[in-house]
Amino acid sequence: MDIDYTAEEIAFRDEVRAFIAENHTAEVKAKSAKSMTGYIDKEDHIAWQKALYKKGWIAPNWPVEHGGPGWSATQKYIYETEMMRAGTLRPVAFGLKMVAPVIMEFGTEEQKAKYLPDILATNVWWCQGYSEPGSGSDLASLQTRAIPDGDDYIVNGSKIWTTMAQRADLIFCLVRTSTEGKRQEGISFLLIDMKTPGIKVEPIVLMDQTEAPNQEVNQVFFQDVRVPQANRIGKENDGWTVAKYLLEFERGNAYAGGLQGGVAKIRDIAKQERADGGRLIDDPAFAAKLAQLEVTTEAVQFTELRTLSALGAGQRVGASSSILKCQGSSMVQEIGELTVEATAYYASPFDRGVLDPGANVEPIGPAYAPAAAGRYFNQRKATIYGGSNEVQHEIVAKRILGM
Ligand SMILES: Cc1cc2nc3c(=O)[nH]c(=O)nc-3n(C[C@H](O)[C@H](O)[C@H](O)COP(=O)(O)OP(=O)(O)OC[C@H]3O[C@@H](n4cnc5c(N)ncnc54)[C@H](O)[C@@H]3O)c2cc1C
Repeated sequence: MDIDYTAEEIAFRDEVRAFIAENHTAEVKAKSAKSMTGYIDKEDHIAWQKALYKKGWIAPNWPVEHGGPGWSATQKYIYETEMMRAGTLRPVAFGLKMVAPVIMEFGTEEQKAKYLPDILATNVWWCQGYSEPGSGSDLASLQTRAIPDGDDYIVNGSKIWTTMAQRADLIFCLVRTSTEGKRQEGISFLLIDMKTPGIKVEPIVLMDQTEAPNQEVNQVFFQDVRVPQANRIGKENDGWTVAKYLLEFERGNAYAGGLQGGVAKIRDIAKQERADGGRLIDDPAFAAKLAQLEVTTEAVQFTELRTLSALGAGQRVGASSSILKCQGSSMVQEIGELTVEATAYYASPFDRGVLDPGANVEPIGPAYAPAAAGRYFNQRKATIYGGSNEVQHEIVAKRILGM
């Protein structure tokens, strides 16, 4: 994309670059390069986020009154692009990008004062308790019960696919507070301290084989868990409205910078790999595939910029977040696939040991090879989490195209 930045914007870009060079350590970069899930050690995430917080940059989309930097759309774009280009850790979304906007919109003043400063400063790690065994796409069928008992609720049930629950201090949960009327009308949105007695977290190992304690997803069990009613966001039985609002933010994630980073990496690999006696990058069939990915990445970027400017003008992300989710997540997978293709035979050995944090085993093949296959497998998740792409297509058809 060709943008003429003003002198101030160029100065801002240089400041972002200098900040990254100073704070995103080589060690963290090396760990990220091996990570298949996008997560590395918890303390590394916290240290990076606290550095961003100290600089006042941790929450580009938060309003100034809650600690946002008050940036223009162009500054946000520069910031995101520079972070992605440098391959920095992504700030963990559950607190900053998911539950925080919900608390700002539906929380009481006490709840805002209690939760938002800790989210901003990365004093707490959140996880998301929406899906249940049997309730994923059909989320309104969820059965985890919260029954009033004095000033509390007693919660019983189970949540599944809960990302990084083993690291979380708090979980935001959808619970059933009524079985009367329409299913959507009996749901409430609760914030639960993960240390409350009666909560058990069990790891689920996915096909990338990342095991405890670094597993990506879990099942969380609630047995007679006592939760103050004061932890409910919004009115009782009005949690569906809150839940949908949060999903707009979850699905409207920024993909373009990451996609650009992925395309750049393939280009780099293709300059080193061989094909028909020459460089892979000079192979016309391969170059055409790479060019197609670049074009689509640019289209995703423009859609995101449109969304950013609408947000800047005070509009909601709305159903257009489903377009971003479908296109962005499909592109993540296409880039993973072309990375494996470019890496060729060296993508085949899947040696978990090489990828373990702190492993000092020599990889088979070049440094970019060992994570390629594991990432490819892990990326199957992208078209499922946050609501599967099939379901997003239905939302686009109904709410945008009016079909
Ligand atoms: C890696 C990963 C991390 C996740 N993290 C979290 C998390 O932190 N918190 C959380 O709450 N959830 C999380 N999820 C769960 C995720 O939101 C659900 O997996 C997703 O909503 C799909 O639900 P399901 O798995 O029950 O599949 P199902 O709903 O059973 O769907 C099975 C298949 O049927 C298709 N299908 C279902 N309904 C329709 C329809 N109406 N039209 C067309 N096709 C349909 C789906 O597209 C899918 O292909 C995560 C999932 C993954 C894979």
